[in-house]
Amino acid sequence: MRGYMDKIVLEGLPISGGIGIGRLICIKEISYDVNTQLIDEAEVENQITDLEVAICKTFIEIYDLKDGFKGLLSEEENRIFEFYSEILDDSYFFEEIKNTIRNKKYHADNAIYTCIQKYIDCIQDSDNEYVKNRIFDLNDVRKRLIKNVYGHSEVNYEEINSSHIVAVKELNPIIAGVLSKKEVRGVVAQEGAGYFTHASIILKSVGIPTLGNINFKETIQHQDKDTIIDCNNGVMIINPDNSQIFTYSEKLRRKINIKDIDNFEPAITVDGHKIFLYASISSLKEFNIAKRINFDGIGLVRTESIFIDYNKVPDEKRQFAIYSKMARAMKNRILVIRTVDIGADKVPGSLDFYKAHSERTVRGIRRSLQHKKELTLQMRTIIQANAFGNIGITFPMVNNADEIREVKEIIKGIENEIKAENNERNCQIEIGAFIETISAVEDIENIIKEVDFINIGTNDLLHQFCGLNRKCSTVLKDNYLDPEFIKIIKTCVDCAKENGKRVILCGEMVSDPVSIIVLIGLGVKDLSITLGAFCDIYEIIRKTNCEEAAKITEKAVSSKSIEEVKKMLSDCLRS
Ligand code: PEP
Ligand code: MG
Repeated sequence: MRGYMDKIVLEGLPISGGIGIGRLICIKEISYDVNTQLIDEAEVENQITDLEVAICKTFIEIYDLKDGFKGLLSEEENRIFEFYSEILDDSYFFEEIKNTIRNKKYHADNAIYTCIQKYIDCIQDSDNEYVKNRIFDLNDVRKRLIKNVYGHSEVNYEEINSSHIVAVKELNPIIAGVLSKKEVRGVVAQEGAGYFTHASIILKSVGIPTLGNINFKETIQHQDKDTIIDCNNGVMIINPDNSQIFTYSEKLRRKINIKDIDNFEPAITVDGHKIFLYASISSLKEFNIAKRINFDGIGLVRTESIFIDYNKVPDEKRQFAIYSKMARAMKNRILVIRTVDIGADKVPGSLDFYKAHSERTVRGIRRSLQHKKELTLQMRTIIQANAFGNIGITFPMVNNADEIREVKEIIKGIENEIKAENNERNCQIEIGAFIETISAVEDIENIIKEVDFINIGTNDLLHQFCGLNRKCSTVLKDNYLDPEFIKIIKTCVDCAKENGKRVILCGEMVSDPVSIIVLIGLGVKDLSITLGAFCDIYEIIRKTNCEEAAKITEKAVSSKSIEEVKKMLSDCLRS
């Protein structure tokens, strides 16, 4: 979309929140002008030598990068590099390239290109997001190998520094890693920046604002221009006018950076209500940040990350080590651990492990109840870890009270076993349920009687809500503000209140500065947010008056449209 004068506004997909202001620098593609002429027999050995040298150089490059990330990335994130090393270590794969040089008389670069293309073609049509995202990794390895065959110098990362907004055509984990170390002000990418790509995970975890779906051809014409990226609203502004620079600079100046916080004062509203701010986390690295900042607790540990990228179900020792470490560190503060939610777009990274589950479309608790051994092992380790802290166990994608009754029976058995083994152990654990399906909302009256607390998963709930509501063809952030959706959340919150049960709100809606007021207005005091949203949400809470928020929420549920609610909230935020 073009604005007036010289200003260009591009719309993109917000991957992580935040604002970045800097000079635009574009990482140019390495050209793929591979040499397609055929070689003589006498040239074959030279080309094979070039290939071997390129493999060694690429291996060293990856190794150096991995080394540079020691301590910066979590164990899971570091596995990204393992995928690269596995390719470079695969002698069968390189034998295939050598045979292409020998038999087809291809130049080394052409042989690399065509052999890797064969692999890319194989996974191109996969409907598994994780597998598809490996195309970016394969492409990156290919570029690196070809560059090292040519002996070309690499993309000049030297020029990039912490004053830049960086545009790339195709983001991959290596580029993301370099940019996160350089602490650039923002990243925009045409491809490779999806919610589940490893590259996005790296940038999100270090708080670099990132936008996906930004056309590279468009951006490359504006190298070195002043640029703003606003990842809260999904826009990139090239050549912003002075008033925009001023407004955004002010916003940035006022924004507390999560890196600068060591210990925050309680989040108390203007009229004196304490709001408990919990962290929703997916890795130990995120856990460590949450612990340092002194969150009131952890409202959600997504244990999928322990299973994803793992070639088998993690054993009891490994799971216990992780859960007990967290429990010890949180002491009395609540630590809500959710049993694994594999399925849909969350799939294990290992192809073998994935294949075993690929036919299954069931997710969450329903899938877990079909894998009782895996579920029992996970629940047992969580219950044992509870001896060291204050854990609540919760279950994803619950559909009805029967499922909770079934897991409670298993829990009872585990608790009895533990008691028999060791009388001293505290194995009583609080039990929760994730309310994130429409069927759970319909059965909330029964579910609530079976649990000590509920989590409301606004991400999945919104997807289900939009699936049922024909007006929503795609799930957009604004749909959170649909009065009907707010009513659904209100039903669950009111039911929990009537039964004296705690509600922990989770999902992106809770981390969204616009919708948070509506949620506070529902009377919920326990919010679980993503780390990156902490500063925005904290600031808003401290400026909110609960009574006024309740009036806003009342108006929101009786509004006629999303637009009406949106307008009301933006007026409120402005004032
Ligand atoms: C949710 O659905 O809102 C939620 C927190 O769960 P996840 O995002 O892990 O599916
Ligand atoms: Mg969910």
